Amino acid sequence: MSEPIIERFHMDNDRWDESNAKYRSLRGIVIHYDVSKSIDSTMQYLLENVDKNPNKSASYHYLIGRGGRIVELNDPKYTRAWHAGVSNLVIPSGEHLTSLNRSTIGICCCNYGFAETPDDPNERASRRVLAPSPNSGRFLYWEPYTMRQIDCLIWLIKHLEVRLEWKAEFIVGHEDVSPGRKVDPGPLFPWSRLWEGLNLEYLEREGPQEELFGR
Ligand SMILES: [Zn+2]
Repeated sequence: MSEPIIERFHMDNDRWDESNAKYRSLRGIVIHYDVSKSIDSTMQYLLENVDKNPNKSASYHYLIGRGGRIVELNDPKYTRAWHAGVSNLVIPSGEHLTSLNRSTIGICCCNYGFAETPDDPNERASRRVLAPSPNSGRFLYWEPYTMRQIDCLIWLIKHLEVRLEWKAEFIVGHEDVSPGRKVDPGPLFPWSRLWEGLNLEYLEREGPQEELFGR
């Protein structure tokens, strides 16, 4: 794989500075999808909303496009992002974390998520795959992630761990920290490929039986 580059386009939602940096305590990573056709349209959406409500607008630390483009919207070294919302998680150490924006890096993959029918109205989605929703168990049609996207996610996590001299204690989906409210990154997210790429043992959950990739 050619080495990805990180484009920087900072939203600076909630900058940690000298006065509050001591409260920053990154513990893990939360994975999302954006229900969008491209990084550009997601950025446009986020920036329009930042203008409306600069203190509470949604954001991520990183966006990863289907073709592997990576954009840093907030530097996790200095800035919190508003990606997890109302959330909680019991982590491997047994601690119960709440409001995970405080303690996690938010990484969002471009993906349309689910549709009710197999006839895909979005030309960019290569195909749709029938799988149960994490919330309801209802079968819906989901867009597979691209292999390049997952390879770039693996690269980014390794890059961050070196740069921040830090190890994620957990990597979870938004659906795991806000169950009942969120379903991203959804049933097609290839968790086992992520664990393999990060040289981690399977961490309690698997992706789809047969890992499927779009283009
Ligand atoms: Zn999310």
